[in-house]
Amino acid sequence: MPRTCSLIPLKANEAYANTSYSDIPDIIQLTPYVENAVAYIAGYVAKTLLKRLDCSTCAAALTQQNTDHTDNVYHLTETKNRGGLTTPSQSTVAVCSEAEKCFRRMKAVQPPSCEKFADTVMLCTTEDVMSRQKPIFAELHDHMFDTEPENNHIIHLVKAVAQEYTRIRLYHWGKEYTSSISESKIRKNLSKLILFKHQ
Ligand SMILES: [Zn+2]
Repeated sequence: MPRTCSLIPLKANEAYANTSYSDIPDIIQLTPYVENAVAYIAGYVAKTLLKRLDCSTCAAALTQQNTDHTDNVYHLTETKNRGGLTTPSQSTVAVCSEAEKCFRRMKAVQPPSCEKFADTVMLCTTEDVMSRQKPIFAELHDHMFDTEPENNHIIHLVKAVAQEYTRIRLYHWGKEYTSSISESKIRKNLSKLILFKHQ
């Protein structure tokens, strides 16, 4: 669960609310290692959403049967696949990569503990992905017309993937954050102990 920013003064929060994420330059390039990790997390995202999605057409677009072995981003997923990890489709991985980039861009201007952080990342990702030249979840293009325009399943799916990715990402950020606190606490306690011993 994302923490609320109770420690951050209201004024700072207001300032963040006025920050337009589209103003932040998109300079983030993911390293091949990060891309692999993103594809791996995308497998969890797909697995989680498969259980939650009501629409079987959309659910089918989350995963793919055969991974393209020449595609390096699937390397980690392939390696770990013995445990039955779901292979995410290229579109699922693409949304997760964009979510990772948005996560990094947002993190530079506001703390991930902020209340609206997850929503901002989700909206930023959706906007970036939907404005791409190459259509996302192209196989769902016809399916889009099965539904009402205000209930566009492609947008719903992109949002769901981005939201789940951010949720997992925030969980890990929380763990990193907590461990950094405890590390500094241990260091503090250790230095106190050393001081005490030298007295
Ligand atoms: Zn659908």
